[in-house]
Amino acid sequence: MISKNLKPASLKDKFFLIIPSVLHDESFLSWFARTSYLHYIHPQTFLNTHFGLEYRDIFKRDLDVALNNDLIKIFTKKTRNKIDISSLTLGKYTGYLYEDEIVNATNKMFISNMKFCPICLKKDKIPYFRQTWKLIFITVCAKHNCFLYDVCPECNSKVSLTKMYQNKKSFLYCHKCGFDLRKSKIQILKRDLINGINAQNKLMNILKKGYIKFEDRWVYSFVFFITIIQITKLILLRKHSYFVNKNPLFKILKNKLAEHIKISPPVFNRLNNQELFALFGLIMDIFDNYPKNFKSFINKNQLTYWDMVKEIKYLSFWYDTLVNDTTPRYSAFGDMITKEEIENAKKYFKRNNINISKANLQRLFKTRNYFFKLKEI
Ligand SMILES: [Zn+2]
Ligand SMILES: [Zn+2]
Repeated sequence: MISKNLKPASLKDKFFLIIPSVLHDESFLSWFARTSYLHYIHPQTFLNTHFGLEYRDIFKRDLDVALNNDLIKIFTKKTRNKIDISSLTLGKYTGYLYEDEIVNATNKMFISNMKFCPICLKKDKIPYFRQTWKLIFITVCAKHNCFLYDVCPECNSKVSLTKMYQNKKSFLYCHKCGFDLRKSKIQILKRDLINGINAQNKLMNILKKGYIKFEDRWVYSFVFFITIIQITKLILLRKHSYFVNKNPLFKILKNKLAEHIKISPPVFNRLNNQELFALFGLIMDIFDNYPKNFKSFINKNQLTYWDMVKEIKYLSFWYDTLVNDTTPRYSAFGDMITKEEIENAKKYFKRNNINISKANLQRLFKTRNYFFKLKEI
């Protein structure tokens, strides 16, 4: 039985007695739970005894992303500076996944619940949960060629590393029903879906490096991830499935596409793990044979420039040019520029902090020598 009866904050000024080494790619919560087990204290009690009630609200959140700088400092100190706590949290991807915005509890579009590979957990000498299992686009274990689980296969509960079944079973057991997660049925990937693993590896590489290279152009990873959100909306919400429907991965998504999907909550949360696997595989395929596939996707779905850029917060020069080369900003119908296009152009200016003026509009539609009436602006 692991002790649950310790007074809050009674160990506030104390170091942790046992400080286990961090395992490869281990998540903060996984390391923290293991540390608690080694002290024979329930992880939540361990938090309370070392931190009191001061941080109670933060501790209710997902600490793999919500750990703030103050707490990172205190945790690091408690390990006698032996562990670099900040490297264990997903906050380190700030600037890689999103521009300046900090990856934290409220801004975590690309962060999922904790997933797991049953074979990894079974084969680990010291079983633990990986940081990468919390990235939304990591859906398979590339080592064991199987799908990860995002919930307990017995009762559908999310994995929670700081809860314990009946206060005594470790994180290897579902905290709700006690099921041994290592005994989850292995879902091996079929051969025709292997491309999805390549897509996942590519995405991981982009995130690690912080950029992706297209021909002679370098693109920041956060710019690429913004693009992924836009294309996701085109496929899932607006059902533009030509081109991607030729890919074997498409069959996994087919039923989902038949459903009406609401924009909120974040669109990725609407998909299960296997559907996410298919989605990211399809999107990466659009960027294969660059820029051929990308152009085919636009052309086959008859998408306009505005369809492609509509909701993009930071429109990069790379993406703007790429889209414009295939489907130019101006109307394809002679000198006709529709009211809608002008409206869209105004929104585009606003977003990019460009003055809404006649001269700028003319520059935008430069290939047409179109005369704008001032009152339309
Ligand atoms: Zn594995
Ligand atoms: Zn369960």
